[in-house]
Amino acid sequence: YKISKVIVERSVDAIIVLDEKSKITLTNPALLLLSGFLKEELIGQPLDYLFPHEINADQSKAFTIENFLIAEDTKYVTGSHRELELTTKKGEHIPIEIRVFEIDPDENGRKQFTGIVRDIRERKRLEEQKTLLINSLKRLAYMDELTLLPNRRSFYDSLQKSIAIVKRRNREAVLAVLDIDHFKSINDTYGHDIGDVVLKNIANIFMDCLREEDTIGRIGGEEFGCILPDTDTTGGAVVFERIRESVRGHRFFIFDNFYLNVTISMGYTRIHPTQKPEEVIKFADIALYQAKNSGRDRIQGYPI
Ligand code: GH3
Ligand code: MG
Ligand code: MG
Repeated sequence: YKISKVIVERSVDAIIVLDEKSKITLTNPALLLLSGFLKEELIGQPLDYLFPHEINADQSKAFTIENFLIAEDTKYVTGSHRELELTTKKGEHIPIEIRVFEIDPDENGRKQFTGIVRDIRERKRLEEQKTLLINSLKRLAYMDELTLLPNRRSFYDSLQKSIAIVKRRNREAVLAVLDIDHFKSINDTYGHDIGDVVLKNIANIFMDCLREEDTIGRIGGEEFGCILPDTDTTGGAVVFERIRESVRGHRFFIFDNFYLNVTISMGYTRIHPTQKPEEVIKFADIALYQAKNSGRDRIQGYPI
């Protein structure tokens, strides 16, 4: 008995003992430290005294000891616990995990329970950091930093999905490859930073010209890919012409009162159900090559 008393006193985890009416009959220093209450303030209080926030959050469930009790056969399994928020004397909410189980009866033969409470603030903090990290890694992995469009990897994923839909649901879809004309000379004349500004602005024009369900991604330096679902090549050509016209008519202001005109060429093709993403892109590239050779600032379908 003496040994268990020392263990309870020195425990890093907070420990409480409850009588059969879920009233607190024993506390330990770790619990007082965690909750900010004095021993006298807690003795005789119901368990929910430490969890008023939880009660308010779910009025429908009686906050009884049974809700916490761990099944007899899992009594010694360390993983059986519930996560709750403990409310301190100051009103601060601390995430904790609690394990409640029945112990030997008291001297009058009445039921007794113990609750072991662990402060999990640090674990929660690390979990949040991990989520943030994973999200930013995902963002980096799938988004082009300059234009904020889906990057090559992401675009190929979308293309793969589009092919699957064409195949499974017997739908039409069109893919286009868009390439800026004489972009190298923009860089050579005005510098790489101006080239970047043009890329960003072009990306915005593409976004403005497309519908929610369309996909546009940056698949190379000054090359973009576009997927139009539920669209045949005739309908696609209308959209691509509109994009070409929008770029052509746009004034790309690079200094006050000074703007550039930029044109793009496009190759497009129907997405076939049996193709791999690389094959669809290859056909569109053949058409793009033809568009460039025929004088640029134009769209070209495949087969030519
Ligand atoms: P064409 O009309 O035949 O397409 O000619 P082009 O000059 O556009 O084609 P080319 O492939 O010769 O040049 C593409 C240029 O794009 C070369 C490269 O320096 C530039 N580029 C690629 N990525 C970026 C980028 O992120 N920023 C900037 N500013 N330039 C880039
Ligand atoms: Mg180019
Ligand atoms: Mg190019």
